[in-house]
Amino acid sequence: MTTTRINTVTGAITPDQLGTTLMHEHIVIGYPGWESDTLHPGPSLNECLAIAVDRIQQMQDHGINSMLDPCPSDLGRDVELAAEVASRTGFNIVCATGFYKEDQGGKPYWALYHEMGQAAERMAEVMIHEFDHGISGTGIKPGVIKVGSGVGRITDYEYGILKAASIAHKETGLPVTTHTDQGTMGIEQQQYLVENGVPAHMIIIGHSCGNPDVAYHQAIAGAGSYVGFDRFGLDILAPDSVRIDNLVRMIEGGWNERLVVSHDCVFCARGVPFPEALVGAADLDVLFNPTHFHRHIIPQLKSRGITGEQLDMLLIENPRRYFSGAPLSPVHGG
Ligand SMILES: [Zn+2]
Repeated sequence: MTTTRINTVTGAITPDQLGTTLMHEHIVIGYPGWESDTLHPGPSLNECLAIAVDRIQQMQDHGINSMLDPCPSDLGRDVELAAEVASRTGFNIVCATGFYKEDQGGKPYWALYHEMGQAAERMAEVMIHEFDHGISGTGIKPGVIKVGSGVGRITDYEYGILKAASIAHKETGLPVTTHTDQGTMGIEQQQYLVENGVPAHMIIIGHSCGNPDVAYHQAIAGAGSYVGFDRFGLDILAPDSVRIDNLVRMIEGGWNERLVVSHDCVFCARGVPFPEALVGAADLDVLFNPTHFHRHIIPQLKSRGITGEQLDMLLIENPRRYFSGAPLSPVHGG
């Protein structure tokens, strides 16, 4: 199915209105349990608003028009904040419905329903309601379904989330974007979703750039889904040099139409989830900086022979095609 309308937090737009789009950035996240760290609540709503508006204005200075904020409902999602940021900046923000991986998501709440074999149906009901009526009475509707799994295996609970996403996709027509850890289990996520009725071209396998092996990326693209090179700047997890090498290989291999890029920035975190010891040494001109790709990565890609047209495919055409639900061209890749 294809659509001519894409839900953003400030209303529906046409695919052509997306323009240059980063496909995985976060205004705010909060790992479940953040509220117990009462000594460190993190930024206030107003501080977060100021930070996000500033970040987005920097993005706009680089010609970026839109972003997907795929925060699931159990990871500190705040769609009213997103709507305020979007209306102050005139920037398009697409928000998500969905659920995070077991080890850092809302599993404690859903555990009993999971044990009773009812979690997937109830989660699907939540997603469908958010799409039909808006999120928690705000009227703000999601433009994507988010799912996730952890390292090296997909747990039963996470299969429940994937099942719920498949049910919700069939009802809503929303595309699906995924979280993976360390570039693992993306192929299994894709297989399960496709077997359960989500067309491959309506799936982004997120954080695939965490896997250093280009064969993994080729397998996902070859089966028809989008491959997320969406953690530029997160050298803590994998070096950008590897992301650049693999992105260039993928484009040269003919997979240009199956790649999306982003940073997985967290503009604001509830509590203090990233201890100083972990991120203190990082270069904040790079880490969680949503213009890093435009300022630092594009010049490197160009020096490797990537053309403006190929970059437009990553930043404009692929997001537009994904959200519109249009299939990929049939003959591509090598
Ligand atoms: Zn993310």
